[in-house]
Amino acid sequence: MKKYLISPEQNQYKANMHGHSRLSDGKLTLEQLKEGYKERGYSVYAFSDHTTVRWHKELTDENFLPLAAAEIDVSQQGAENFNLRKSFHFNIIARDPEHFEQVPYDNKNYSIQYINSLIAEARAKNYFVVANHPNWSLFTEDEYLQIEGLNGFELYNCITANYGGALSFTPEIYLYLLRNGKRIYPIGADDNHSFCLPFSHPNNDSFGGFTYILADKLEYGGVINALDRGDCYCSMGPQIHEFSIEDDVVHVKTSPAKRITVMTGTRHLTTLPALRGETVEEFTGRLNMNLLGGFILLHVEDSEGKHAMTRAYYQGEDF
Ligand SMILES: [Zn+2]
Ligand SMILES: [Zn+2]
Repeated sequence: MKKYLISPEQNQYKANMHGHSRLSDGKLTLEQLKEGYKERGYSVYAFSDHTTVRWHKELTDENFLPLAAAEIDVSQQGAENFNLRKSFHFNIIARDPEHFEQVPYDNKNYSIQYINSLIAEARAKNYFVVANHPNWSLFTEDEYLQIEGLNGFELYNCITANYGGALSFTPEIYLYLLRNGKRIYPIGADDNHSFCLPFSHPNNDSFGGFTYILADKLEYGGVINALDRGDCYCSMGPQIHEFSIEDDVVHVKTSPAKRITVMTGTRHLTTLPALRGETVEEFTGRLNMNLLGGFILLHVEDSEGKHAMTRAYYQGEDF
């Protein structure tokens, strides 16, 4: 029987899951951020100013949903250059915005053990937890493997390319974690601070990457439930209209793409590259079901070099 992993019937809400306003070190007001993002088709925004969880309920309207969030940071201390020190940041997003508790922390108390205890506390207080800007943190893949309790992972963090000494898109770390048994969902976010450039400038740190959330309607509980189910994917541009599997045949429909690939937990994959100068929007491929390594996921790249990537869908559970 055909199983839809992403169904063409589902609504897809565009979300920025990480951004800063004047309430911390961002330059713009909440209202300016709402206006700019709404104009570009966003429906969900996690206002994640540093340290303190806030819910800006007054920004809610029928086409815009603010999520209650904060960014927490724990950094190595010492005399050496700041740009060599490891620094772990994570977003906490309240599942129940009417009832949330703060997560107090000591940002100088750097250890994996302390970070794990903070994540455990945030989860116990009913937060959805996302590891932020993985490349900027300077964590190795094996250090990420030691982090426990993450719900999400910023597979794309726009501002990293400006300040992170690395690329904004981190598929290698993400795939490494999945292939080592972590179950973490892919989040795309800007981490916009809007320091000096207007929204209209192509180098602005807004609108670079986002999360498509597949929910029945634009409502707080429903959006959180979709995130908890992993009904979301990371994108910098491409949209996935369908991802389905029937026996060993996968079927994909997307916005115009340079390549569509169904990856697995191993080297095995099935892919459709477009002819040079052309695009593809639909792909039917066949997998060897004995070589999946436990899961499949979908990657799409468009002609501008923008990517979209789904979570892992598990053999025997999701299909
Ligand atoms: Zn950060
Ligand atoms: Zn941030």
